[in-house]
Amino acid sequence: MATFKAMVIEKSDGATRAALTDFDEANLMDGDVTVRVEYSTLNYKDGLAITGKSPVVRRFPMIAGIDFAGTVETSSHAAWKPGDQVILNGWGCGETHLGGYGEKARVKGDWLVPLPASMSAREAMAIGTAGYTAMLAVMALEGHGLTPERGPVAVTGAAGGVGSVAVAILAKRGFSVSAITGRPGEADYLKGLGAAEIVERKEFAGPPKVLAKERWAGAVDCVGSTTLANLLSMTRYGGAVAACGLAGGMDLPTSVAPFILRGVCLYGIDSVMCPIARRREAWKRLENDLDHQKLASMTHEIDLSGVPAAAASILDGKVRGRIVVKIG
Ligand code: NDP
Repeated sequence: MATFKAMVIEKSDGATRAALTDFDEANLMDGDVTVRVEYSTLNYKDGLAITGKSPVVRRFPMIAGIDFAGTVETSSHAAWKPGDQVILNGWGCGETHLGGYGEKARVKGDWLVPLPASMSAREAMAIGTAGYTAMLAVMALEGHGLTPERGPVAVTGAAGGVGSVAVAILAKRGFSVSAITGRPGEADYLKGLGAAEIVERKEFAGPPKVLAKERWAGAVDCVGSTTLANLLSMTRYGGAVAACGLAGGMDLPTSVAPFILRGVCLYGIDSVMCPIARRREAWKRLENDLDHQKLASMTHEIDLSGVPAAAASILDGKVRGRIVVKIG
């Protein structure tokens, strides 16, 4: 029996449990490409899946991990051949399809994106789903017509994964970035990524005014709930907010005032089912729009055995930047 190491989530008596396991290769799911996984990453959703705090996983046993980078081993898909280096984000991996926290993955070739030429597999996963989502958010704001001349841009959850990458990309694009964080002790880190200003998260606590003083031309929001509602009420006339996350809650206690009185637009960002052409564009842009050294400064590495502890930390809002997971 051929097996490989994997972080597998099992369910028994209504509770889920994640453990490092020897997984039988014969139990990989259908797919036309088999990939030798080199790196994965820890995203907020991985934290929810591993700890079982939210019903992210809908098939058991499940190899967790919503993304990976690696090398094609076998393929019957026209676009891929053995030796090709590939990236996968989402498409239900780690939720309904066996995911990236294993030495092998079998997936649909249509889900894969080529590893950009200037990136290593490790760098691609230092970016990971969080960083690719940040790129999608910046693309949405720029698609809206946002330019540095229109005014400063805010990033909430700034010291987290999506937030850190969004700060670095926006700063490299020439925007004046306000990093909104509950960890003011991370000010030097955030300034190192290019933030022009640090704003404390507590300014976004309480119920929002219907319309507050206009501050930002645009924003990337990782937090949702009251934070996003306050952000909308502070967005300048004609501005835009890209909503990516729910680290502060799933609700959105806002009014229509920012939309109908200030023409503010709220863009929804989804990385999981995002069409392949937009994914390819995002990964291509990440080659130039994200500084490699800044990426290195926000990344630290763990191996599969470190995933459960890191999963608990990310849900506690204690992870700074990005965690890359070395597989194999
Ligand atoms: P992280 O945990 O790395 O970052 C989240 C950050 O949000 C924290 O670092 C913290 O930043 C802030 N935060 C945490 N808890 C709270 C709270 N209770 N109230 C206000 N702020 C809080 O996670 P990721 O960056 O990986 O993901 C961020 C969000 O984006 C998650 O909700 C995730 O599910 C979502 N996401 C969505 C995707 C999509 O396709 N739409 C793809 C990837 C992620 P600080 O300490 O600086 O305040």
